Amino acid sequence: MAERRVYVDYNATTPIKPAVKAAMIADLDIYGNASSMHADGRLAHARVEESRRAVGKLLGAPSECIIFTSGGSESNNTVFQTMRRLASDQNGTPLKDGRNEFITTAVEHPCVLNSASYLKSLGFKVTFLPVDEYGKIRIADLKNALSEKTLFVSVMMANNEIGTIQDIKEISRLVKAAGAWMHTDAVQAVGKVPVNVEDLGVDYLTMSAHKIYGPKGIGALYFRKGAPLYPLIHGGHQEDGFRAGTYNNLGILGFGKAAEIAVGEVEEYGRELSALRDRLREGLLSAIPNIKINGHPVDTLPNTLNVSFPGAEGEAILLSMDIMGIEASTGSACASGSLEPSHVLMATGVEAELAHGSIRFSLGWGITNDDVEYIIETVPPIIARLRSMSTLTS
Ligand SMILES: *Cc1c(COP(=O)(O)O)cnc(C)c1O
Repeated sequence: MAERRVYVDYNATTPIKPAVKAAMIADLDIYGNASSMHADGRLAHARVEESRRAVGKLLGAPSECIIFTSGGSESNNTVFQTMRRLASDQNGTPLKDGRNEFITTAVEHPCVLNSASYLKSLGFKVTFLPVDEYGKIRIADLKNALSEKTLFVSVMMANNEIGTIQDIKEISRLVKAAGAWMHTDAVQAVGKVPVNVEDLGVDYLTMSAHKIYGPKGIGALYFRKGAPLYPLIHGGHQEDGFRAGTYNNLGILGFGKAAEIAVGEVEEYGRELSALRDRLREGLLSAIPNIKINGHPVDTLPNTLNVSFPGAEGEAILLSMDIMGIEASTGSACASGSLEPSHVLMATGVEAELAHGSIRFSLGWGITNDDVEYIIETVPPIIARLRSMSTLTS
């Protein structure tokens, strides 16, 4: 194994920041149940509410509009199941009349995509909006899909694979004008670009702590005052009855700390990470012939670079890079042993073969100029070797 390790898979997850770790360690012995009335319970409860304020502040939202969940996947499922209930009769059968239709996009994270597919399997009408070559939905397609039957629209703010940022403000405006509920999965956007629920005009917003240098297994759902919400998990009266289960104090504390830090760093993040990302892009483009950059040239996350390497296979590139200590990811999801090309790249019109040869580099805090130069030196010979092997075998 290489001695050097360059982790460039921050869109998959981030390490926890030292200050987050310190705060969590300091609180390890706070064991009170945050719902208990006694002093230990009140101490735990105070920490939970402090974190709720910090998370709210990061989103420009009042803390009473934030509920804690186990992460982005649960937040998204909670909203979809709330909408399912609104669009069903008492037996759970889709309503025949009224608003009962759903709209999302073809490039969502699997937890939205599969929530939507599940509703479709139950008999609801679900439209998956296509995207252009840069990964953006076309506003005209949204306008065509919206009707007086539309109940709910879910469009992710920033894509995890290619970084493309959607025009959520404009999308929300149209969705609200059509009388439907608007949700955005902002898991990848929060901490990387400014995210403000009032400015965006959304009714629901999803985020996750482990994508912003907080711990895993904790996330949040913002819901606008007055927007409907039903619990996914029934039980005790935690989170005002919206999400049962004893508070995950330590996770919530770490999340709050990460949110508190992120508030002050968004601008710097954009500046520093986009400079590193640009250098990586230029370095790879000038050192490797015939490569393709995926995603939007301007409306994109500052940290994300998705590259197709024609003539080389993604898994082989990953393994070769891993031997050299570079940790990135492919868009391909290894589902039940069969390698599916990335649904996101396919939706942007990239051919399956090329999608298979695509790598996502996602940078984050801690990545240095030296790390980027190391990638730029290390990757070209790997691609050259894999390409020569593939011409030998074909
Ligand atoms: C990681 C991710 C999720 C899932 O969040 P978890 O907290 O891991 O459940 C949802 N949406 C997007 C866009 C993500 O990148």
